[in-house]
Amino acid sequence: MMGAMIKKPLIDPNVLQQLERLGPDELELFLLNRGNYRGALLSATRMINEMRVNHNYGVLETLICGHAYLAAGLISASLKGQDRVGIEMDCDGPAGGFVVDSSAGGSVRGYLRHAPIQIDAPPESFDTRPFIGDGTLSVTRFAEGSKQPFTGHISLAIHDYFHDFEAAEVGTREVRFDCGCSKERFARFLAAMPIDEIKEIREQGPFPLRTVCHNCNTTYEFSESEIERAYQMSR
Ligand SMILES: [Zn+2]
Repeated sequence: MMGAMIKKPLIDPNVLQQLERLGPDELELFLLNRGNYRGALLSATRMINEMRVNHNYGVLETLICGHAYLAAGLISASLKGQDRVGIEMDCDGPAGGFVVDSSAGGSVRGYLRHAPIQIDAPPESFDTRPFIGDGTLSVTRFAEGSKQPFTGHISLAIHDYFHDFEAAEVGTREVRFDCGCSKERFARFLAAMPIDEIKEIREQGPFPLRTVCHNCNTTYEFSESEIERAYQMSR
């Protein structure tokens, strides 16, 4: 039983042409004002397109979830080792919010809570506020070796700070759409289900049982014999 995240291929020729022109995704790290500020600049057209294709998102879903991916990618600049950071938004607009996370290694994954977004009329601008409404944003940092994650609430603002400062680039890092899910993980999850539930699946199917990862939209299928094995493991 093997299996890991499946990326759907990018096939839109316009997107492929654009990606070729732009080159690989990259997170550039730099110091501003003689080291008083740290900055990061993220180019992630490939990451956003791969996210869009895997999740089957339309323009609006891609715009909102894409902003979340960019934020997670930027914050990954401050991580090291096995650290991870999660960004969650709950809101009362039709998008419902999002759940994304990133790692020090530059893996970014996650999803929009309500997709497709239910709207009455096509959006008239790229202003995403009507679809988000009011809500809360939380950022949780899972530091390596620390049992207690740290959650903070922050306000995100984009300023034109950089004009006034001299920037010195200090390096680049990789950022990509990447999810650590696997069929083995889903099998362990099935085996950890309450015995009645796994028993019911075992007896009633349907087979193959399909499980879908929220974060990357990969589907893992379990045959009857694989469910039997999970059931035996759970007893
Ligand atoms: Zn996944």
